[in-house]
Amino acid sequence: MSRREEIAGNLAQVRERIARACEASGRAAGDVGLVVVTKFFPASDVRVLADLGVTDVGENRHQEAEAKAAECADAELRWHFIGVLQSNKAAAVAHYADVVESVDRAKLIGPLSRGAQERGRPVDVLLQVSLDPPGSDHRAGVAPDRLLDLAEQVAGAEGLALRGLMAVAPLGEDPAVAFARLADIRLGFLQEHPQATRLSAGMSGDLEQAIAAGATHVRVGSAVLGSRPPVH
Ligand SMILES: *Cc1c(COP(=O)(O)O)cnc(C)c1O
Repeated sequence: MSRREEIAGNLAQVRERIARACEASGRAAGDVGLVVVTKFFPASDVRVLADLGVTDVGENRHQEAEAKAAECADAELRWHFIGVLQSNKAAAVAHYADVVESVDRAKLIGPLSRGAQERGRPVDVLLQVSLDPPGSDHRAGVAPDRLLDLAEQVAGAEGLALRGLMAVAPLGEDPAVAFARLADIRLGFLQEHPQATRLSAGMSGDLEQAIAAGATHVRVGSAVLGSRPPVH
């Protein structure tokens, strides 16, 4: 089987899972967008994906993302940055990312805004919300009680368009329970920012639970591209 056939088969299965999950929650099949997470996989795979109709790809490391986006500049793709973002790299990320999903602190706003203005095109921003239990150190994601303050600052920043929220279910907890908490946080958020309706949640292992909780985008890596080498 060629790499293209392998990816096409996996992609069909993931699209089928998304369609079934939409149906189970009474949502239209087109309601949920797919972001294929291409971290660790080569630009040649990204090209195959584009050819198979994928419109959105996600990356979590700046250097790898920057190089791949440049290599695939001729493909019609939206690049999502989904990883931990360092403030000294944020302006550079805004040069190629169409969507930055992992904004979780105010320090990132200035450089992202500057990068977007240098590029001359607005960058879509999702705020990453921590779903960790209260009291843990919120390694990635803004604590829910600080979300509205951060949202206010992003909404007021030149070159940034606040589009919604992103979250990752914590390890060791039923994702359905974590995503129910997320849906609740989102309700309060939407009262203040009713236009910021995107919700990026759900990965290879928990996309069904995320869609049931209202996800508008799922970020799927291994179920489409295969298993990655272990993180070092
Ligand atoms: C790697 C990654 C994904 C994709 O995970 P899979 O389990 O391979 O689908 C989704 N979201 C984020 C933030 C990631 O880093």
